[in-house]
Amino acid sequence: MIQLKSAREIEIMAQGGRILAATVETLRAAVKPGITTGQLDEIAESFIRSHEGATPAFKGLYGFPGSICASVNSEIVHGIPSKRRVLAEGDIISIDVGVGYKGYFTDSATTVAVGAISPETQRLLDVTQKSLAAGIAAAQPGNHIGDIGAAVQAVVEAAGYSVVRDLVGHGIGVQFHEDPQVPNYGKPKRREKLVPGLTIAIEPMVNIGGPATRTLKDKWTIVTVDGSLSAHFEHTIAMTDTGARVLTAA
Ligand code: MG
Ligand code: MG
Repeated sequence: MIQLKSAREIEIMAQGGRILAATVETLRAAVKPGITTGQLDEIAESFIRSHEGATPAFKGLYGFPGSICASVNSEIVHGIPSKRRVLAEGDIISIDVGVGYKGYFTDSATTVAVGAISPETQRLLDVTQKSLAAGIAAAQPGNHIGDIGAAVQAVVEAAGYSVVRDLVGHGIGVQFHEDPQVPNYGKPKRREKLVPGLTIAIEPMVNIGGPATRTLKDKWTIVTVDGSLSAHFEHTIAMTDTGARVLTAA
């Protein structure tokens, strides 16, 4: 069941979203060759907790041990941060992080280059970010969830990449994962209608190779089956009368 949010609830989510945006910026700036994903996790947790009333939403969510998901190269999402995982020049790291604030959640993800990366890898990041922007732009009153997925998919497939289908965006607010599901593929005018008060996380996961995924033995980390690189960008948005308000933008 979809829980629409009042203007007051969306203001609280925007406040949490500002803390989350600052967290993401702090993490982007901290990524460099030699740092471990465990160190990034500590930075995220202490930065979030330095804001009164803010908590790292992922910590303990479904039993997840970290405050961030840290997914390197062919890891798509849900990588467990570790002090033994050292980032190297040329890697990419997808950092997914959520904040709880005054009873409401926000969710955001970004993919960051570790030092210098190849032009092909940079293109993956650019296309994935562009696909998120297209999805947000398609979130107009009167449109449907399918318009968002269609817009994301069009950008990704025009670039010759593939959209991950096994994982989707989601409603968010009182619960971290709420209805509706927000696939990164689909057809315009399909699925739920976008109405004011709807709060959703739009989060394209894009692979250079095929869309197939598998889960590693740690039971969390989801990787591309073909070993190709994968990127992930995400924002939490609220539907208003005039379009999407991005709650997690810097
Ligand atoms: Mg997320
Ligand atoms: Mg999400």
